[in-house]
Amino acid sequence: MCGVVGIASNTPVARRLTIALFAMQHRGQDAAGIATRDGNQVTLTKASGTVDQAIPAQAVRTHTGHSGIGHVRYPTHGSNSAAEAHPFITRMGGIAVAHNGNLTNTDSLLRRVHALGLMPVSRNDGELILLLLAHALATRGGARSDDVVVAAVTEVMQAVQGAYTVVVSLQVAGADTVLCFRDPHGIRPAVYGRRGQDWAVASESVALDALGASLIGDVPGGSIVFLRHGKEPTTYTITSRTSRACSFENVYFARPDSRIEKLRVTATRWNMGDILAQEWLERGHQADVIVPIPDTSRPAAQAMSERLGIPHREGFIKNRYSKRTFIMPDATTRDAALRLKLNPIREVFEDKRVLLVDDSVVRGSTMRRIAALVQSLGPKEIHLAVCSPPVKHPCFYGIDMPTQDELIANTAGPQGLESTLRSHFGVDSVTYLSRQGLATAVGTSLCAACFDGDYPVLLNDHERELIQRNRRPNHGDVPQ
Ligand code: SF4
Repeated sequence: MCGVVGIASNTPVARRLTIALFAMQHRGQDAAGIATRDGNQVTLTKASGTVDQAIPAQAVRTHTGHSGIGHVRYPTHGSNSAAEAHPFITRMGGIAVAHNGNLTNTDSLLRRVHALGLMPVSRNDGELILLLLAHALATRGGARSDDVVVAAVTEVMQAVQGAYTVVVSLQVAGADTVLCFRDPHGIRPAVYGRRGQDWAVASESVALDALGASLIGDVPGGSIVFLRHGKEPTTYTITSRTSRACSFENVYFARPDSRIEKLRVTATRWNMGDILAQEWLERGHQADVIVPIPDTSRPAAQAMSERLGIPHREGFIKNRYSKRTFIMPDATTRDAALRLKLNPIREVFEDKRVLLVDDSVVRGSTMRRIAALVQSLGPKEIHLAVCSPPVKHPCFYGIDMPTQDELIANTAGPQGLESTLRSHFGVDSVTYLSRQGLATAVGTSLCAACFDGDYPVLLNDHERELIQRNRRPNHGDVPQ
């Protein structure tokens, strides 16, 4: 998972790009970068680390450009070296590119790029997009007009497969321009908005909020949007397919204050909790207290509390400075890290029938440790309610998930999934939101392939195997 931003203005944008990236720091903490444009001059700052580490204030002061793009990175494959950080720039045409998503046909794209006599300096698919775009423009005599750029982007979109939201900084007929184009299904998110005569595009609307820009809407899947200071955006539809935006953005990734298709994410999560409450009740369970596992499941837990008339309590205090548990090297360190990260309040759990609410369960290792922690506090019963269906399939579209056999929902024995998970977690019941419940809360025109295996972009066995093989072991940007 990554985040992208682009701004078209008539005053320096570097500081605003870093502000927007700060607002999307949750989408990637391993690297960050900005590229700004001052006429033909492109200035690039990028490095490993969080936004403040990778783009220090003294570097921001060296950027004079009035338009530019930025990126925060969480790698889905390859290393987290600075060489893999975005944006990528090429001297050929002075173009900068940053990308969120995952191309599924990188092997054939690499052969194509080599055949053109081009040599990427990284293993990143964002650089492949840059090289293909630069070549497509060069063969048309450069970015002489919007029509030429549309033709070049169309050629790139016909070559690449997978999920992508791409932001580009370039000059078109001498005018500083920011482009954004999305894959035909719009799997990875992108919204755009304005502040006065300035325009901005970003992965999440919270970045626009941070810039004081008002949201205009989502960049349509299969389309290119041209942004220039002082001009209305121009949108060109390249290819039109059914929208299949990632439903996991609503389940877990996006900030609750973001808006997707103009719907506030926290409201969607509330709906998930409301539906889950009804499904949980139908199973005849009872509880004395509802406790969210921070932070994502909070609105759903509150909705369950309201619907069921059961008090909602904060049972875990989250240490905001602790590292993510899944990158700890061994089980002992991970247990200590979990206690550091989520310190429980004994009185909330002791002698109670507890309903724990979590957004999703992927590998199940963190949930098992949380359940053991709660068990040690003397509850009468522990019930688990999960605000999404069982995750049974890997993601090939830019979300770093475990392989199929590592997903806990695929480990069910002959006694069935719930029984297996009850004994695995040591809890009294496990209730997942149904697939129908997810569709009711989030909508039907979405990608939910990690839940139901219905992949919007098909991959052959070799492509699947390559992505799985390149996945970084013991990492993941989903809850474990
Ligand atoms: S497979 Fe899951 S995580 Fe991947 S894009 Fe689809 S819904 Fe999102």
